[in-house]
Order: sequence, then C-alpha cells, then structure tokens
Amino acid sequence: MSQAKRILIANRGEIAIRIARAVNELGHTSVGLWTDNELHAKHLGYCQEWVNLKGSGHGETYLNVDQIISIAKENNIDAVHPGYGFLAENAHFAEQLINNGIIFIGPHADAIRKMGDKAVSKKIAEEAGLPVIPGSVGEIETPAEALQIAIEIGYPVLLKAVAGGGGRGMRVCRNESEINKYFEVVKREAAAAFGNDGVLVEKYIMNPRHIEVQVLLDGNGNSFHFFERECSVQRRHQKIIEEAPSPFVGEDEELRQKICSEALRLAQAVGYDSAGTVEFIMGEDRAFYFLEMNTRIQVEHTITEEITGIDLIVCMIQIALKENLGIPSQEWITRSGHAIECRICAEDPVTYAPAPGKVTGFETSFPQGTRFDNALFKGLEVTPDFDPMVGKLVVKGITRQVAIRKMKAALNGILLEGLKNNIPLHLVIMDHPKFAAGEYSTNFIAEEKPEQLINTEVDFLNIYQQLACIEAFSLRL
Ligand code: ADP
Ligand code: ADP
Ligand code: MG
Repeated sequence: MSQAKRILIANRGEIAIRIARAVNELGHTSVGLWTDNELHAKHLGYCQEWVNLKGSGHGETYLNVDQIISIAKENNIDAVHPGYGFLAENAHFAEQLINNGIIFIGPHADAIRKMGDKAVSKKIAEEAGLPVIPGSVGEIETPAEALQIAIEIGYPVLLKAVAGGGGRGMRVCRNESEINKYFEVVKREAAAAFGNDGVLVEKYIMNPRHIEVQVLLDGNGNSFHFFERECSVQRRHQKIIEEAPSPFVGEDEELRQKICSEALRLAQAVGYDSAGTVEFIMGEDRAFYFLEMNTRIQVEHTITEEITGIDLIVCMIQIALKENLGIPSQEWITRSGHAIECRICAEDPVTYAPAPGKVTGFETSFPQGTRFDNALFKGLEVTPDFDPMVGKLVVKGITRQVAIRKMKAALNGILLEGLKNNIPLHLVIMDHPKFAAGEYSTNFIAEEKPEQLINTEVDFLNIYQQLACIEAFSLRL
C-alpha cells in the first residue's frame, strides 16, 4: 500500500461513519469534526482523531469553507471527503482545497460547477447527445417566456430552480394562471434556499419513474457504470425507498445498456473523475430523459454496493489519491440479486412532518443480508437543525420478492424507542400490492396514500419493539 494519508471527513451522521470505516480499512488516518452541541456524536467513535468545528448553525460550522480549510491546513490534512449535502457540491470549496495543496475527494471543480446548475447541465447533456426533457434552453427571465414555452410543449409544466436540490424549488403548473402565480414564488424560494434565483421550465412528465445510473471515472481514461437504481418512491420529490435493479427496466437488458451508456457519455463529456450519479426520468412509454447529475456520493449508493459487491467510497478515495482501482474492465463488473434501501427518518409516519426527539432505546436484530448505516445510539438527541434521516436500512435478497420479505423482517427488527419514525410507513409500503408488483411511479405516495393504511389503532411501535427485544432481552437476562 502507498503511504498513509490524513483524511478529514467534512460531514456528520451515518455518512461520516461510512467514510471513516473506508478510510480506516485503507490504513489512512480518519479525522472527524465535532461541534459544541454534538460532543457525543457517534461518528467520532469511528474516527482516529477529532477536531472542534467552532460556532453554531450550519453557516458557521459544516458550511464554513474558511474554517474547514484552516482546520485542514493546521492538522496536516492530505485529503478531504465531503460526503453528501453540506459542501459536497460546492465548487468553491473544492477549488480552495486544491489551491491550498489539499486533495478534494470528488470530481474537479469545473464538473461540480457545470453539473450544479440544472440549466447548464441540461445544455451539456443535449450537446453530448443525451435525450433531455423538452423545455426552455437555459434559464427564463419572465413568466411570459414560460407561458410561450408551455404553449409549445403543452401543460403540465414544471418550474424548477436551476440550483435546486433535495426535492426543493419545484412547482407543477397546469395552466397559464398557475405559471403567473408560481413564477415569482419559485424565484424567491430559490434565492432564499440556494442563493441563486435562476429558474427553468420543462415538460412535467406524467407518472414517471426515477431511474439513475451510478458511474465511476478515474480521470485516467477508465470509466465504468455500476448499473441503475430506481428511486420512484418519493414524498415531496424526495426519495424514501430505493431499489436496484429497477423493477421497471426489469429484464430489458437493451434498455439497461442504453441508459447506462448514456450516463457514461455525459460523465465523459465533462471529463468526470470520481463517483457520480446521472439521474433520468423514464416515462410510461419507457422513453427516458436526462434529469440532473449529482457530482458526489449519493445517499443510496449502498444498494449498488450490495448488488455489485464493490465499495464505492473506497473507489472514490483511491481515485482521488491516484491509486489503482483494480477494476479490469466494465464486463468484470457484474450484479446479482436485488437490494432495497428504506430511509429511516425521524418524522411522523402519517403526516411526514419532521419529529425531532430523544432516543431512549436502540437495539437491532436483523435477518441475514441486512445492513443498517446509521448514527443512532441510546441517548441521541435528534434536533430540527439537521436532515431528519437517521439511518438507511438496506437488505439484499436473491430476488426482489425475497428482498421485500427480508426488508419487512429487518424493519421489524429495529427497536427505536422515544423517537417517532417512519418505520410503520415502510412496513405498509412493503405490503402494498402495487409496490409488491413493482408497479409504481413517482406519484405512488401521493396517489396511494400509504400513510392512511397505517393502522393507528395498533401500536406498531410496540410490535416491532417486542420482536426486536427478544434477542436484546435474552442477552440481558
Ligand atoms: P433534485 O435536485 O431536487 O433532486 P431533480 O431534478 O433530480 O431535483 O428532481 C427531483 C424529483 O422531482 C425527480 O426524482 C422527480 O420525481 C421529480 N421531477 C423533476 N423533474 C421532473 C419532470 N420534468 N417531470 C416529472 N417529474 C419531475
Ligand atoms: P440523493 O440523491 O443522494 O438521495 P438527495 O437529494 O436526497 O440526494 O440529497 C441528499 C442530501 O443532500 C440531503 O440531506 C439533502 O437535503 C441534501 N441536499 C441535496 N442537494 C442540496 C442542495 N442543493 N442544498 C442543500 N441541501 C441539499
Ligand atoms: Mg435529483
């Protein structure tokens, strides 16, 4: 192995733990960050060193480029992994690190900048020959422009913030008056949330599937895809369940090859040099269109790791350190079985409203083939300051049906006392006939309202707690 490096993890929660594990496995030194109100954060236990991130609120801490760069310099850091969220897609951060002689574990800043703007990335995708959603070429300045385009492409249309992310900054418009009503709303929201009020308009694809392709390029001429993931179970344009392979693509290997090679084509066009995801929207007619590219590791990379057996975080680190990946060819990458991920969120399972709280008990008892990436522990205080996602429950089975069965057992195997969470919702979805049949679009939650099927008469919490407790209690007795 090459010389050990000092790697700073500029993140928290489950992804910081995931990265620390990979860093430690590779024999490098993992350096974590702690803020004053997160003294006992679980990720610190997985890091070999810790540095205090001063201040309060995101702006002063995890989003503070200057402070994180100073910390990296003072602590002789060789490379920084940003995880997802926070500074992961901040081109300025990547540039500043490089200017200070520190490696950014991610793609080059130019790719981040270009792909971070949905209007720019769409133009690049179109130039590279990818199918793009009909709509404005670049940003639009006035509602009149949006109206003109809507007449050409037909309603419904979507007004979308070019700098948007996390499902925010989007409004569906079904007619002229809705365009007039929402144009300024989207602009204002985008300015407040993303510091960029650029807006584009595009065709709203009806009952689509969200299908994305994991890519990995080493910047040295080697580019690989790791097949597709389907993330159509969404609430408010945010993913809550992901699976690989896509049940919609199914056995159609030609379609699979086509979407995967289009993804690689775009990544190659921007000289991409890390792990990334090219997202597509696929219509009922199986025609697919480029949606956006995420220039970072994604939350749901886990399911791709499960079906291919390849550690994507390790690959990202190796690429950044200019080490050999040991992947001989695209053909060498194969997949087997079926993986599903459920995002476990501290939220009300019926209203989907975030539900911060304190974990008063945490135990697990899982079936074979389960992975639970989380930062939970007894005593953890989940605050409203951060994303409500507290864990990712991942299972792999030999078939989709087996994976669903395992997921139900795994969901029942989590004891999470004190914290309202969406496990009861996931259980209902796993049992839903449309989900079981793989027949669902991004409108699944809005149309089927699975939250209404949660039997609030029965204390779900108690059922899975009791099941999970069997093992935990027998250990204590
Ligand atoms: P974000 O950056 O917030 O992830 P995306 O552009 O990836 O934004 O879109 C998020 C989700 O919104 C998609 O997965 C899909 O469900 C929905 N969506 C976005 N654009 C369209 C569209 N043109 N037609 C239909 N649904 C869309
Ligand atoms: P993924 O495709 O990895 O599932 P998500 O859209 O769910 O991506 O976002 C992952 C994380 O990053 C979430 O915590 C989300 O809130 C955050 N995030 C993504 N894009 C942005 C953005 N532009 N601004 C702020 N947070 C973002
Ligand atoms: Mg997206």
